[in-house]
Amino acid sequence: MAYSYEAPVSQSLFDRASVVTPGGVNSPVRAFRAVGGTPRFMVSGTGPYLTDADGREYVDLVCSWGPMILGHSHPEVIAAVQEAVSRGTSFGTPGEGEVALAEEIVARIEPVEQVRLVSSGTEATMSAIRLARGFTGRAKVVKFAGCYHGHVDALLAAAGSGVATFGLPDTPGVTGATAGDTVVLPYNDLDAVRAAFAAHPGEIACVITEASPGNMGVVPPADGFNAGLKELCAANGALYISDEVMTGFRTSKAGWYGVDGVRPDLMTFGKVMGGGFPAAAFGGRGDVMAHLAPAGPVYQAGTLSGNPIATAAGLAQLRLLDDAAYAKIDAVSAELRSLVADALTKEGVAHTVSAASNMFSVFFTDQPVRDYEDAKKQDVFRFTAFFHSMLEQGVYLPPSAFESWFVSTAHDERAVERIAAALPAAARAASEATA
Ligand code: PLP
Repeated sequence: MAYSYEAPVSQSLFDRASVVTPGGVNSPVRAFRAVGGTPRFMVSGTGPYLTDADGREYVDLVCSWGPMILGHSHPEVIAAVQEAVSRGTSFGTPGEGEVALAEEIVARIEPVEQVRLVSSGTEATMSAIRLARGFTGRAKVVKFAGCYHGHVDALLAAAGSGVATFGLPDTPGVTGATAGDTVVLPYNDLDAVRAAFAAHPGEIACVITEASPGNMGVVPPADGFNAGLKELCAANGALYISDEVMTGFRTSKAGWYGVDGVRPDLMTFGKVMGGGFPAAAFGGRGDVMAHLAPAGPVYQAGTLSGNPIATAAGLAQLRLLDDAAYAKIDAVSAELRSLVADALTKEGVAHTVSAASNMFSVFFTDQPVRDYEDAKKQDVFRFTAFFHSMLEQGVYLPPSAFESWFVSTAHDERAVERIAAALPAAARAASEATA
């Protein structure tokens, strides 16, 4: 596909980066490989806008993949960071900021009795499954195809379909032994979970699921799916781990738990709670968390865990996220969803706008999407054309058809108007695209 617009400074930065960094990026999706073209190197962000190295401004619908729920450079978050940084950047001791952030999480999310702070969502899920294994004395982990829980070895296994299939490593570097303890099941299929427990009696430590998946596009849990997981785990002595790294503090004040009320044994958080800094967490039942070092035998640690800058940013952000903030994000999300659907309908493009609270994505198919297999059946080439048209017109979408779009409290009328103005041409490009 040829692109009618260029980004020479980004391209020269990408060329430099590609010499010293594999693929030119520090996280694969940033390289634009799914959509082609030059990844934009951003130099600044304000409110709903990002500016790239070529001086072009974009309305940002990625929001750093979720964290920037108040928009970029929110003055109160920046002030909290500046105040914290003026006192030093890391002490390697306990500090009040991490206590306050933990208290805020415990206060918001009722099933979380205790919480441990870490630096990334990957660390949170890795530690949560270690704790589940240590607590239950069992080895196997159940996960769902299309759910992403960070690049934890055991959780990268996503191959195989059907009931109780042993996962095969999806990437070189994950050993068969590690992947062999992971059972990968189709999402939204409680019968498959039932069958896995029957096939591995007394062996499954935990079922981990995205509270509402956003990593195969947005595919919400079917009615009763999470409740069913919880029940099956309880009946079989396994822990139910809800990964709220993406949904946490975003889909409501109490994340997805605030939406469906299903009580997990353990939960993981990241993104929003760090205010744009590396802060993440896992927490849950007090009796389970008591197994964690130094209270208990399951080891877990981190040089920068509870970092004072990250906790100050996260706390400032969470404290600004009141009911009015969520109402605003929900309203902007609903408006954008209907604008996108209208534009695609007008051009006769088959699509499904799939939403979970204020998270949403567009599948280029009119068939229902309930799991990863369904998601993969969409016309990805139409997304590619749509993406590049939006980019050219100054709207920055996730560079993949399998990612959630994110909005913030900063997405005001002007930003929405800019998106609305770009949609007709993007919808036309999608309709004219060929495989
Ligand atoms: N869990 C979920 C649901 C995620 O969406 C992600 C990242 O996108 C992770 C875990 C991993 O978080 P991190 O990228 O901070 O390691």
